[in-house]
Amino acid sequence: MEMNKCENDSEARSLNFIEQIVEKDLAEGVNGGRIQTRFPPEPNGYLHIGHVKAICMDFGIAEKYNGVCNLRFDDTNPAKEDTEYVETIERDIAWLGFKWGQIYYASDYFQQLYDLAIRFIKEGKAYVDEQTPEQIAEQKGTPTEPGVASPFRDRPIEENLRLFEAMQRGEIEEGKMVLRAKIDMANPNMHFRDPIMYRIITSHPHHRTGRRWNVYPMYDFAHGQSDYFEGVTHSICTLEFEVHRPLYDYFLDQITGPNFAGLSPYGPDYRPKQREFNRLNITYTVMSKRKMLQLVKEGLVAGWDDPRMPTVCGLRRRGYTPQAIRNFMDKIGYTKVEGMIDQGLLEHTIREDLKETAPRVCAIFDPVKLVITNYPSSLLCGEGQGGVCEPLVAENIDGHPELGTREMPFGRELWIERGDFLEEADNKFYRLSPGGREVRLKASYIIQATGCEKDAEGKITTVYATYDPDSKSGTEGGNRKTKATINWVECNSALDAEVRLYDRLFAVENPSAEEGDFRDLLNPDSLKVVTAKVESSLRSELHAPVLKDGIEQENHYQLLKQGYFVVDPDTTAEKLVLNRTCSLKDNYLK
Ligand code: ATP
Ligand code: MG
Repeated sequence: MEMNKCENDSEARSLNFIEQIVEKDLAEGVNGGRIQTRFPPEPNGYLHIGHVKAICMDFGIAEKYNGVCNLRFDDTNPAKEDTEYVETIERDIAWLGFKWGQIYYASDYFQQLYDLAIRFIKEGKAYVDEQTPEQIAEQKGTPTEPGVASPFRDRPIEENLRLFEAMQRGEIEEGKMVLRAKIDMANPNMHFRDPIMYRIITSHPHHRTGRRWNVYPMYDFAHGQSDYFEGVTHSICTLEFEVHRPLYDYFLDQITGPNFAGLSPYGPDYRPKQREFNRLNITYTVMSKRKMLQLVKEGLVAGWDDPRMPTVCGLRRRGYTPQAIRNFMDKIGYTKVEGMIDQGLLEHTIREDLKETAPRVCAIFDPVKLVITNYPSSLLCGEGQGGVCEPLVAENIDGHPELGTREMPFGRELWIERGDFLEEADNKFYRLSPGGREVRLKASYIIQATGCEKDAEGKITTVYATYDPDSKSGTEGGNRKTKATINWVECNSALDAEVRLYDRLFAVENPSAEEGDFRDLLNPDSLKVVTAKVESSLRSELHAPVLKDGIEQENHYQLLKQGYFVVDPDTTAEKLVLNRTCSLKDNYLK
């Protein structure tokens, strides 16, 4: 078995470019050899697999280099944020198996940031602009043409102070004024053209600070400072922030040094550094929070945790394991080049993981009854089954007794797949046909079909066969070879399961690149529901989920010939619900 393949892969892989930077910093004793990262989600939506790429980086660096990774909620826009999201983000990260040091909120720093803004105003480095957002945008210029200065740019300091304080007191209407940094309207980096530091938001209370604040800091003014207050050494983010980095450094330049001692506990030489890597994009899905929210709100999916969603809770419900997701991140790696990852690689990774661990059980999706006419009722005992079955034993994964066995009740009447029987077949058909070949029933006996019965419409209702009592698997006769093995489930003990067959959410490779409405590109066949007959060993799933470290555990199965499945939380004491994680066929390596 290739049990440790992925672990070996990751040990053997060369350092990614961020790890190289970290090792160099450690070698040079930068920031006293301290390693501190943060994962900074905005609590305005659910985490998706793109975020997991950042999580694996931020937490991974801390784990690997004996540092700490904190969780910081970047909650500077009360209009979109909610405690609901804070809770799901924590739950998802814990499920992925990462442990944060502290939990911080950007809103913890609202007072400090406000005081800094006042300080900027007093030093002539910020001004209150009364223009409309459109006017401000128009004056920005283009990368090749300089911008135009606002008529309010040279307001006296006293007036700026008075207006900014009035903004905070709630005396100015939302959208009427902003505080801008006075930097350089001709700078080739557009982010330097007097970026907005603060805006007014009075329409929504903040999920933590309520109505305490009427002005809220913008990302650029909040992020670097928050890093600095906390002592972050490596502020790792995605490539779209690369053009923000000079501004990140500019704001830090203004607050570090002797004048500002005391803002951070790490002394005058300490300095956080921003580093950027490529975002994750995956085919046949969307990862924009806005689009995902639309899918949820409009009922186009069943919720944030719909198994077709690229969210962490969706992947979890689809049957992805934390290990598979982490292995996937290891495989794709971190670079400075944006690209698109084939969803097939994600599916390949979960197959690789589940093939080693998921018990393989029988489930019949399109059942037809098989009656074994020469089966003696004297063999029927199997107490738990009410004296109607012969208790056979099957290995969870063939050839691996160490992975456990289970009881597979056998009897006179079985469910088999309709497609495994043909009334008239040529000699290329190796499965059941009257007068045809011998066929092995998975982990049990060899049978031969003798005939069938049909209803008025000509649909086959029952298949008849005889069995060879000396051919039982696990006995000497069990070694006899047949051309085909078919799956079966004993009728009296079988369990009905609702099986949700999920496929890709979108019909096109890159829905974000297409013209028109992305909702028109949804795959109409992304969910089919069938009722299957499954073997009685799955009866144990009709219980409350098992908790491990307070986290509900998902149970995975391979339904033979059908694919990998996970038990859905909709399962009750009466009804089993299974979700298809992926099919068995792997086209990725081709
Ligand atoms: P938005 O800012 O539009 O709300 P976002 O996807 O950037 O959405 P954040 O909560 O700000 O969401 O992201 C938190 C962290 O996750 C950031 O550091 C961001 O760079 C990273 N991240 C977000 N999307 C991806 C992605 N597709 N691939 C890698 N990292 C990502
Ligand atoms: Mg963001």
